[in-house]
Amino acid sequence: MNVGKILEAKGSEIIALEDTCTVLEVAKLLGERRIGAIPIMRGAQLCGIISERDVVRGLAIRGGGVLADGVSTLMTKSVVTCGMEDSVQQLMVMMTERRIRHVPVVENGQLKGMISIGDVVKERMQETEQEAEALKAYISSA
Ligand code: AMP
Repeated sequence: MNVGKILEAKGSEIIALEDTCTVLEVAKLLGERRIGAIPIMRGAQLCGIISERDVVRGLAIRGGGVLADGVSTLMTKSVVTCGMEDSVQQLMVMMTERRIRHVPVVENGQLKGMISIGDVVKERMQETEQEAEALKAYISSA
């Protein structure tokens, strides 16, 4: 299974914000949509990513006033992305090594979707179940 197939299954909706937004707008959208990270756009260009951890860390260090600040003061600007052809295995390695739970999918410079660690775990569990079923069928047919 690859990234393209995961996106096909979960739909192509992209929840993103412009780099002119505030941390408060980020927090509201994270809460309303029950998601953990938001890609930040400058026009059509992906220019950052902000996760709930960034917001919590910002609040802890700078206090409530951080909510009025621009998103670019807290977001990560060097975004790790993946492509449609990347495998679930490659994503697992990427997420584990870099300690990130969200990876934007970019094709020809365009943001095509987001893959979360939840998507990866769900996919891996399905694969494991299928492998177990195939093994059971093989053993009982022997
Ligand atoms: P997360 O695990 O997604 O909550 O993010 C943990 C930290 O990694 C935060 O500082 C995020 O801004 C950053 N981060 C999350 N996803 C990415 C990504 N795809 N590329 C670069 N940094 C990221």
